[in-house]
Amino acid sequence: MSTSPLEGGLRGVLTLLLVLFFTIASFAQNFTHQDTLRGSITPERAWWNLQHYDLSVSVNPDTKSIQGTNTVTYEVLEPNQLLQIDLQPPMKLEKAVQDGKDLTINSDGNAHFIQLQKKQEKGKKYDLTLHFSGTPRVAKRPPWDGGFTWRKDSNGKWFIATSNQGIGASIWWPNKDHPYDEPDNGVDLSITAPSNLVAVGNGRLIETKDNGDTKTWHWKVVNPINNYGVNINIGDYANFSETYDGLDGKLNMDYWVLQENLEEAKEQFKQAPMMMEAFEHWFGPYPFYEDSFKLVEVPYLGMEHQSSVTYGNRYMNGYLGSDLSGSGWGEKFDFIIIHESGHEWFANNITNKDVADMWLHEGFTAYSENLYLDYHYGKEASAAYVTGTRRNIQNDRPIIGTYGVSHEGSSDMYYKGANILHTLRQLIEDDEKWRQLLRGLNEEFRHQTVSSAQVEQYLSKESGIDLTEFWQQYLRTTKIPLLEYKVKGSELQFRYTNIVEGFDMPVQVTVDEIEEWIYPNAEWKSKSFGDTIEKVEIDPDFYIEHKEVK
Ligand SMILES: [Zn+2]
Repeated sequence: MSTSPLEGGLRGVLTLLLVLFFTIASFAQNFTHQDTLRGSITPERAWWNLQHYDLSVSVNPDTKSIQGTNTVTYEVLEPNQLLQIDLQPPMKLEKAVQDGKDLTINSDGNAHFIQLQKKQEKGKKYDLTLHFSGTPRVAKRPPWDGGFTWRKDSNGKWFIATSNQGIGASIWWPNKDHPYDEPDNGVDLSITAPSNLVAVGNGRLIETKDNGDTKTWHWKVVNPINNYGVNINIGDYANFSETYDGLDGKLNMDYWVLQENLEEAKEQFKQAPMMMEAFEHWFGPYPFYEDSFKLVEVPYLGMEHQSSVTYGNRYMNGYLGSDLSGSGWGEKFDFIIIHESGHEWFANNITNKDVADMWLHEGFTAYSENLYLDYHYGKEASAAYVTGTRRNIQNDRPIIGTYGVSHEGSSDMYYKGANILHTLRQLIEDDEKWRQLLRGLNEEFRHQTVSSAQVEQYLSKESGIDLTEFWQQYLRTTKIPLLEYKVKGSELQFRYTNIVEGFDMPVQVTVDEIEEWIYPNAEWKSKSFGDTIEKVEIDPDFYIEHKEVK
């Protein structure tokens, strides 16, 4: 969507500083020129604002090849004649056409620089049609190492899907492959596939067209969408649906599953309206009523594809049958239905501007798992689940990655992220207020791409707690605060070690059945409890370590 409001000279200086910073950062971590082309808002990207993609793809399972066109509609922010489009080999960008004229394309690896002939005027909108074809990369380990998955169902019918988070949408179709800019008016996605199969994309089905041996399925999303969310699913699908009475009115919920799994799906997908009820409670209205909600079965685990959440959890509860928390509560829900749908609020509604801040997607969504439990099973279940997921935390590197080079932070963005938010819930100490903050985020940043800093500031400001050091500690270092304490008669002495400068998060402790807040920082402090202290317990909901010292 649109870029920052900085003007003229100041923008120039800042850009220069940013480029310098990223160049230094790139050298430090061995990022490549291609990483910068993919991961930064290059001058050839910055001048135009995406309005719409009209993507038309013909899928040929026999040759495992595709071909198509993508008409990009954009608005000129600052006039420029060179436009960057990304498409990764072996896919070929065959031609780029504007106003009926074939344009010159200069390629630099995955980036293609198109020389526009027509004078680009500020504030005007233009179309550019990209023609592409090839044999797209086959997914090695979808959805993590993505591309196309070509499988067959038990009846020998093709079962095909795309997944491309991380590796990028440009693995199969030409686009502006950076998360900062989403098409403001959505995407039209026409999929042509063998006529005995069904093709499912994002949003609503507008029309189908018979072409003899093939059939074209026209799907449409009217809301902004992240490009990794655009997806194609083809199979021998059956469809069932329901209407959900939601916060913003009637919501169409549609399910596309293999014919052979229809009965199992009807049972397992009863969790979909339960999910909707819990998440609308905690996060506010489902963000894409116009586009409907869908669950679509795929031949891999699943992905948060906007308004067509894909599902491959084998109709089992847990994560492929197992509980990630070890608490037992993870067996109460189908991980993929809950987690991937949670992303409709955090990833699809609120989207990271740079993948370095992907914890905004995964931290909040991993956190949503326990809020689902909270809604249906209560607060103790939710706390047991989220604190149980700490066993997955590595503290190998910070949650926030490197900006400008398409570099994600540690996988701790999931469960350390969830536990940071659970800790914040304790600090706010008012569940209704906490709920209003989570709903407020979804209103304030509705359908936008944002930075972690924006979300951090919002939560600081709206909670009335200065969280500067809190975020610094947990998001930008791997250090877990260690609370050291000593008991001296009726006095409790305490301090933090392993903290960033200025970290002074209060903690709840229970001293001989009395619950109290203490306010530790880097210096030893003490608090008197009147009687001789027998037993000290640190509230396990806070993500810290603690140790009694003599
Ligand atoms: Zn996720």
